Amino acid sequence: MSLRLSDVTLTYPDGDDGRVTAVDGASLTVAPGQVIALTGPSGCGKSSVLAVAGTLIRPDSGVVEIDGTAVGELKEPERAKIRREAVGFVFQNDNLLPDLTALEQILLTAHVRGERPSKNRAQARELLDAVGLSEHENKLPGQLSGGMRQRVNIARALMGPRKVLLIDEPTSALDQARGRAVVELIVRLSRERELAALLVTHDLQSLEVGSATGADALVHMLDGRLLDSELVDA
Ligand code: ADP
Ligand code: MG
Repeated sequence: MSLRLSDVTLTYPDGDDGRVTAVDGASLTVAPGQVIALTGPSGCGKSSVLAVAGTLIRPDSGVVEIDGTAVGELKEPERAKIRREAVGFVFQNDNLLPDLTALEQILLTAHVRGERPSKNRAQARELLDAVGLSEHENKLPGQLSGGMRQRVNIARALMGPRKVLLIDEPTSALDQARGRAVVELIVRLSRERELAALLVTHDLQSLEVGSATGADALVHMLDGRLLDSELVDA
């Protein structure tokens, strides 16, 4: 399996002397090529699940495995390497840099890893093609629509030897049709590239759970707990 959370609990300081429990005993398995959608009310812990799954935060307890490696046992530099290489993040805002072209946004990810741009140009172009933006590789974010910028963002998250894709509310700034197209794109690319994808969304209409182009399963979250997770624990 590519991403596995076993009985993960995460608390934050609450500003007084106590702790607030953001993730409460969460267990979840996402297989390669699978897209699991996670939904629930604001503040229930969805982004915290992604942060723990992506090694951004260490949980208080429980095990996170990426591609079979229990990442909690690794030292910080090794976790940072996994974050740079194996995990792609897509957030609600595209966070594109205003002065870089679409192609350069994607190359920058590899550059940060210390790789030579020439080596990565082919993969970056292939990714732009995969998200339908070949013709726009030299455009700046200001010259692209919101939907196109989110597609650049997705292509950027896929640059490199990715195993896991973590996506936080990617369609909230888009209309229904563009939102549906973004989910479809995430599903197609995750299957083609055998990525384990965890997709946080409120946009249940765009998910089309179980359809050929839709998410594989939907997990509800409430007060830090995953409900219905037996759907995907098998
Ligand atoms: P969601 O993404 O579902 O809206 P979050 O994971 O962002 O939920 O937050 C879960 C809970 O943890 C909330 O009660 C939130 O206020 C709290 N929380 C999130 N991040 C922090 C933080 N950095 N410090 C303290 N509390 C936090
Ligand atoms: Mg959130």
